[in-house]
Amino acid sequence: MRKITTGLLAIFSLLLVYSSTSSANEGSIAFVGARIIDGTMAGPIEDGVVVITDGRIRTVGPRSAVTVPAGAQIIDVAGKTIMPGLINAHGHVGGTLGLEEGHYTTENLVRQLGLYARYGVTTVNSLGGDEEQGFALRNSQFDQSLQRARIYVAGSVVIGDSEAAIRAEVNRNADMGANFIKVRMDDNLGTTPKIPRDIFAALVDQAHIRRLPVAAHLFYLDDAKFILNSGTDLIAHSVRDLPVDDEFIDLINERGVCYIPTLTREVSTFIYESEPAFFSDPYFLKEADAATVEQLRSPERQSQMRNSRAAAGYKVALEVAMANIKALHDGGVRIAMGTDTGPPARFQGYFEHMEMQMMVEAGMSPIEAIRASTGVAADCMGMGDIGTLEPGKWGDLLVLDANPAEDIANSKTIASVWIAGNRVPD
Ligand SMILES: [Zn+2]
Repeated sequence: MRKITTGLLAIFSLLLVYSSTSSANEGSIAFVGARIIDGTMAGPIEDGVVVITDGRIRTVGPRSAVTVPAGAQIIDVAGKTIMPGLINAHGHVGGTLGLEEGHYTTENLVRQLGLYARYGVTTVNSLGGDEEQGFALRNSQFDQSLQRARIYVAGSVVIGDSEAAIRAEVNRNADMGANFIKVRMDDNLGTTPKIPRDIFAALVDQAHIRRLPVAAHLFYLDDAKFILNSGTDLIAHSVRDLPVDDEFIDLINERGVCYIPTLTREVSTFIYESEPAFFSDPYFLKEADAATVEQLRSPERQSQMRNSRAAAGYKVALEVAMANIKALHDGGVRIAMGTDTGPPARFQGYFEHMEMQMMVEAGMSPIEAIRASTGVAADCMGMGDIGTLEPGKWGDLLVLDANPAEDIANSKTIASVWIAGNRVPD
């Protein structure tokens, strides 16, 4: 009898432990005393309170104006800064393992979404290469038990050599439940044929028939203008051949289209010609796979990259892209943070912080880079329930030790990451 009682007690206490860890967000959590950057155009709130109830934000405001619900779990975050989780408006999830592609599995998707989350990237817009398992994870994430980054999906990067073929492929992705239709308009520095413009236009038409936005990969300014005139909804890379002109700036603003620079994509094409500085950054090393880093350090690989025409071309392209950000930003264009991470040697999670730093180097202020990576990014993706700390949105937020509005590099001082009010495991 005594044994049974002890056994029952043990089970009971296990249940208690289980319920207190697994359902922390059932009920309310109050983060008290932090500076709050909410991801909107509003200024920061000093000594603020964020209350999350059942995974969603219930109240945000200065301490004096917020009533913390009775029984709420209180988290003292005095001296820290709270901001929305980062949104990468252009990534790719699930395909890469080490430096190899072709490893698309649920396990790999979940691993990468966990990695993004630990780096504070709480949502990734996966623009191509998405298969059934990615769609399934997208479908299962509207749940208050979520502890990994959210994923949105495009399905395949749509190709086809006739109008009928391209419309059929758009339909296939739409039938699977894609959030975006992804297309490439590029000749890869003159090495491959570009999609013909009439087929591109048919793709946009078919996507819009299916009520889906089109995200376009591009390189050239002239294509960018065509793409905008054809009704494309999102520009997924920088214009990298020429300085943007007033015609383009007027057009993109008129069309209300957002622009995703993906500067670190360019960096990844040439940076491994020698040892990159970030290979000694502890914030990189804490998650980096040692074997992958070792491979990137190999002298053969380095010299291959040093002698690559593509690398030389993209190095110049990056300078053009950096200058274009400044011009577009000054022209009032909505810029969303995106990195094109996921393919080999584009490090998920770490590169998003590098991207924000580069956006600031290019001429955005830290707070503008933060908005581009939170509220503006969500808006550009048409996702109304993430991106800002406002009542009703998912409780996806970062607690930082230092203020990123003072120095964007402080985005790396993550004390904890929360998704739907759940603390992401370290
Ligand atoms: Zn991409």
